[in-house]
Amino acid sequence: MKAEIISVGTELILGNTLNTNAHYISQGLTENGIEVLFHTSVLDDNKLLKSVINIALDRVDLLIFTGGLGPTGDDMTKEIISETLNLPLVLNLEIEKNIENYFRKSHRTMPKNNIKQAYIPKDSKYLKNDIGTAPGVYIEYNDKIIILLPGPPQEMKTMLDNYAIPLIKQEDIIKTKTINTVGIGESQLEMELKDIIENETNVNIATYAKMGNVDIRLVNKGKSEEKVDAELDRVLKSIEDRISEYIYSHENLSIEETLFNILKEKNMKIAFCESCTGGLITSKFTKIPGVSQVLDRGIVTYSNDSKIEELSVSKSLIDKYGAVSEEVALAMAKGLLEKTNTDICLSTTGIAGPTSGRETQPIGLVYIGIASKEQAFVKKLMLSGDRETIQNRASIKAFDELRKILK
Ligand code: AMP
Ligand code: MG
Repeated sequence: MKAEIISVGTELILGNTLNTNAHYISQGLTENGIEVLFHTSVLDDNKLLKSVINIALDRVDLLIFTGGLGPTGDDMTKEIISETLNLPLVLNLEIEKNIENYFRKSHRTMPKNNIKQAYIPKDSKYLKNDIGTAPGVYIEYNDKIIILLPGPPQEMKTMLDNYAIPLIKQEDIIKTKTINTVGIGESQLEMELKDIIENETNVNIATYAKMGNVDIRLVNKGKSEEKVDAELDRVLKSIEDRISEYIYSHENLSIEETLFNILKEKNMKIAFCESCTGGLITSKFTKIPGVSQVLDRGIVTYSNDSKIEELSVSKSLIDKYGAVSEEVALAMAKGLLEKTNTDICLSTTGIAGPTSGRETQPIGLVYIGIASKEQAFVKKLMLSGDRETIQNRASIKAFDELRKILK
């Protein structure tokens, strides 16, 4: 079954409200075996809405509307559907009773215009609204299904999950697997996997670039769970064999969560001293619940003085090589290891831009220092992007370097 999601509301088009409903509905439909082909958003405008309905009727089997079911004058979705499909609105006594009950329970009298919500197109079913007044509508029209859901996200969600999905759920078993990669761009990844993607006829393979890493999502569906699993495993293995060095997780974890799990497993403590990343590494790391088990501290040592005072980097070293240098990155990490009771320390120092203090040093040059009792080394990075992107990329690289050496 092919679907289109139609979000109705001027506020969505003008940019006042983020269209989170389309996002949620898409996820729900996809998980239940329905293929979403289009997202359409349209103004509260009768003529435009009519044309959107006709376009969708021509190209999909399932139309899901959200928004425009409220009691006010600009909420016209139901009315326009009724006009376009030539299904007159009829009063549904059950809905009327539900709305009256809703107001009675909250000790309010029902505003007159709410009665509008008790009308639904002829021969359609209504979908109960457990937390508001606007009911949804389920229409079978020729060989199409049309569903109307309310706009308020909470009302839409409960109605979709509890009443709409059970009516349209597909029989197929759908399973997905995710491979999280880091250190390889999306287009290079696609090149590496080109033949696997092209020759694969059952499993859908797609790449999703995020900020700093790329996920590969495998989706397979069929009647037999065993077959669906076996096909997924076969593709997963062929991808793993091809690009194993870039894979850091199969569990949809972030790179920092993966590092956290490794440190926890090894019962290790870590500390960060950050210059050009300004605390971003520590900030990302501390978003993980339970991180106190492995994190000792994160300090921002931005100035030369702070590197000298907090990390015992020698002034002469900074004078000789500059704060952004392999030598200073290494001395920072080693200095922190000395000061703290940790097993591994990481430092950053670099030029995030948009201007470079030293003419010889390009923007995006970042050194990551790593020191443990067993080893100490520096990784030189040349990153591109604006200041925020460089900082973010440096933080991802930092987590990944740590992950790689601890594995
Ligand atoms: P409506 O049912 O059109 O009266 O919408 C009621 C409210 O729900 C709007 O004012 C928005 O705040 C919210 N809303 C409507 N459509 C969406 C959507 N697609 N995504 C998120 N919120 C929405
Ligand atoms: Mg509206």
